[in-house]
Amino acid sequence: AKADGRGTYRFFETGMDARAQARRLLEMDLRAALQRDEFEAYYQPIRDVASGHVVAFEALLRWNHPQRGLIAPINFIPLAEETGLIVQLGEFVLRTACTDAATWPADIDVAVNLSPVQFRSPNLIASVTAALAASGLEAHRLELEITESVLLQNSEATLTTLHELRGMGVRISLDDFGTGYSSLSYLRSFPFDKIKIDRSFVSELATREDSMAIIRAVTGLGRSLGIVTTAEGVENDAQLELLRREGCTQAQGYLFSKPRPASDVALMLERPRLR
Ligand code: C2E
Ligand code: CA
Ligand code: CA
Ligand code: CA
Repeated sequence: AKADGRGTYRFFETGMDARAQARRLLEMDLRAALQRDEFEAYYQPIRDVASGHVVAFEALLRWNHPQRGLIAPINFIPLAEETGLIVQLGEFVLRTACTDAATWPADIDVAVNLSPVQFRSPNLIASVTAALAASGLEAHRLELEITESVLLQNSEATLTTLHELRGMGVRISLDDFGTGYSSLSYLRSFPFDKIKIDRSFVSELATREDSMAIIRAVTGLGRSLGIVTTAEGVENDAQLELLRREGCTQAQGYLFSKPRPASDVALMLERPRLR
């Protein structure tokens, strides 16, 4: 195996090298991109299920790479989190989203995703305060989306931060609900305004009874706890109809619109469906 393994090892080593190098390049690229202003917030509408009205937009980060074109967050957010660059990136999204939302009709809110790294950063409260102040956006129009992974660590500090944010008037959503651990106990321990039901449950709505049961349970829970429920990844009318029947409050997905640049917000408000 050794004789044979030499070539294998060398190949392996080269492979590792290439990966590490690609990573370093991406990191340098990310830093430069922040300087060069290559990031952009796209927006996806969230609709009230009962009335059909747009009630908010979720800001979703895109990287306009000069060579590689438009890059989705899955391709750079993990490294941005590892390197800590997500804090700067997250501040950019916060500022941009608040500034954009301040130009929208006053009954339209904006939702911003917070990385767990950003959530734990000592700058968080200051950067939220600064983004609101600079934009003039009223705090109640800002929703911050956090995932269950935020709640797993150091719950004392987490609770303090959540209460501080809510004290400012900002609202808190629990994102990707159902994909983490022991979700139900969080609803009792932490102050949430909204639960976002993960796309995976919605996509299996028509084909899996257990997904239907989970959605029914979560919307029921939301109702009794006074928490808004939003279904993510709604792609067709059948899903929307089932969600309506279960009393889900809000829906978001390609059925209404894909995420689009800020310049398309007026269009998305005008037309119920724009794909
Ligand atoms: P997320 O917060 O769960 O965002 C929803 C994702 O689902 C978005 O992907 C959106 O484009 C996609 N989506 C919406 N409707 C549908 C649908 O009907 N069908 C399907 N198949 N997909 C749909 P995107 O924009 O690629 O973002 C992926 C993830 O990256 C987000 O998941 C979020 O976790 C993260 N992310 C995006 N922007 C930011 C940001 O500014 N900060 C942080 N920390 N994370 C971000
Ligand atoms: Ca989200
Ligand atoms: Ca989500
Ligand atoms: Ca997700």
